[in-house]
Amino acid sequence: MQKKINFKDEYVCIITGLVANCVLTIIKFFAGIFGHSQAMIADAINSLFDVLTSVITYLGIKMGKKPEDEEHPYGHENIEVIVSWIVSIIVLLTGLFIGYSAFHTIIDKNYSHPSFIALWAAIITIIIKEILHRYTLKIGNILNSPAIKANAFDHRSDVLASTSALIGIAGARMGWLFLDPVASLVISVFIIRTGVNIMKQSNRIIMDAVPSEDFVREIKEFILRYSEIKEFSNLRVHPIGRNYIIDVSISVKKDYTVSKGHEIANNLREALIKEKTFLKDVIIHVEPYLKD
Ligand SMILES: [Zn+2]
Ligand SMILES: [Zn+2]
Repeated sequence: MQKKINFKDEYVCIITGLVANCVLTIIKFFAGIFGHSQAMIADAINSLFDVLTSVITYLGIKMGKKPEDEEHPYGHENIEVIVSWIVSIIVLLTGLFIGYSAFHTIIDKNYSHPSFIALWAAIITIIIKEILHRYTLKIGNILNSPAIKANAFDHRSDVLASTSALIGIAGARMGWLFLDPVASLVISVFIIRTGVNIMKQSNRIIMDAVPSEDFVREIKEFILRYSEIKEFSNLRVHPIGRNYIIDVSISVKKDYTVSKGHEIANNLREALIKEKTFLKDVIIHVEPYLKD
């Protein structure tokens, strides 16, 4: 019996994107060349880079799954951050490329006269890419995966790129030749912004930024539920790929035995890991409470 495709699977999600990118590249080159559309050929080159993005994401996710080894005791998940960085660079270059060619079209007054097939290619791309964006973002959020989320926003930047092509082609068909480069210039700014945002998100992980205020508040409230813990300090959250590691100091009665202190810390650690998805480990430092 044939196995059913599970669309919730992260690999299925990325491969769906890869197949779509390959098909769109072919359609766009075909439509661009036979439909005499400069904008569509530029969009085809964008799709070619998207194929590369999908392959890099796939490989990154696969490599990130490798278990810890001696050289990488924290595991390999941070490779996803490298993947999102590469994706952000590709999106940035796409934006710059579209902006640059629009600029040239204006300077050279080199307007094209595209046919209907190019218009259809743009519409098909916008629909497929918007669906892919929503689907990929959903999976990325469920798994808290930086690489998959970056991929989702790349799909969104492709929607913008094809919208620019669509406006240009439609404008040219109505005789407003200037619409193409002007639309492209505006949209290149949006694409560059998408690239910057993807990069910012990966930098947050690299810089150990606090995931969210809610996350930290919930951890604090959780620790305060333990009456044996008199106070705590130095709560720090360290993101690793999709997951987090927390370290914190807790103070317990100073005449507790080492075993008792260890037991309290261990209970807290296990409870926290159970409570919080994406929490991989909690490192707890036990101190004597000296204030009573
Ligand atoms: Zn390794
Ligand atoms: Zn793209």
